[in-house]
Amino acid sequence: MHDSHVSRPVAETEDVLIVGGGPAGLTAAQYLARFRHRVLVIDAGDPRAALIPTSHNCPGFPEGISGADILHRLRRHATLYGATLVGGQVYSLAPAYGGFVTETSIGAIRTRKVFLATGITDTTPVIPGLRAAITAGVVRLCPVCDGYEVIDRKIAVVGQDERALQEAIFLSRFTPLVTLLATDASAFSPSTRRAASGRGILSTGSARPPTPARRF
Ligand SMILES: Cc1cc2nc3c(=O)[nH]c(=O)nc-3n(C[C@H](O)[C@H](O)[C@H](O)COP(=O)(O)OP(=O)(O)OC[C@H]3O[C@@H](n4cnc5c(N)ncnc54)[C@H](O)[C@@H]3O)c2cc1C
Repeated sequence: MHDSHVSRPVAETEDVLIVGGGPAGLTAAQYLARFRHRVLVIDAGDPRAALIPTSHNCPGFPEGISGADILHRLRRHATLYGATLVGGQVYSLAPAYGGFVTETSIGAIRTRKVFLATGITDTTPVIPGLRAAITAGVVRLCPVCDGYEVIDRKIAVVGQDERALQEAIFLSRFTPLVTLLATDASAFSPSTRRAASGRGILSTGSARPPTPARRF
């Protein structure tokens, strides 16, 4: 974990093991620690949240907040109440002794409960410098989070199926200047095509296929 610290020695037996130290795992850690459970968070150190340049839809932060700052605050909040945060990888999980035994990069851990907060893996197109473009806010991954930020701006939506066209239609609420870059426009249903053409969304068919996993 980037700025975490081990607030007490890692014990062999925990009440709750949380796998993943992104916003989900850290929020759970804070609540469970305040419920006076003994909580260990193990995080492989690659939260999607770290890619957020500035979030403008995080309640309570009207001026916006970066993903790094969100994570820093959540880590501080969880450790304040006694949760232990460590960097590492959880490899396996098996039921045993009325709880679980997990194999991890910091050794075997027995725990009564396990909370999985491992996040998701993005499927991204092959674009050189993509990670830098994401952290600079030039490439966005979430229309719901970022639609407001593109009001009246010229944008392109990259995708390969019906959902991409639906995202483009959603974004046309914010800007009339939407171009869809689709690998296979034949995948779109007639009704979605009609909805898109009614909004002036262009489809160029020039995008390259996505890679199977997030590797920037
Ligand atoms: C560019 C970008 C901008 C975004 N903007 C916004 C926004 O403005 N507003 C908003 O609400 N959301 C936004 N999001 C979405 C938000 O980042 C995610 O919803 C959030 O990070 C999900 O939190 P999480 O804890 O589920 O997963 P993550 O943040 O991905 O954390 C999961 C963690 O689990 C760890 N892990 C996985 N497997 C293991 C394992 N086996 N062992 C140990 N650790 C493991 C990973 O390394 C990772 O650190 C944005 C996302 C991106 C990429």
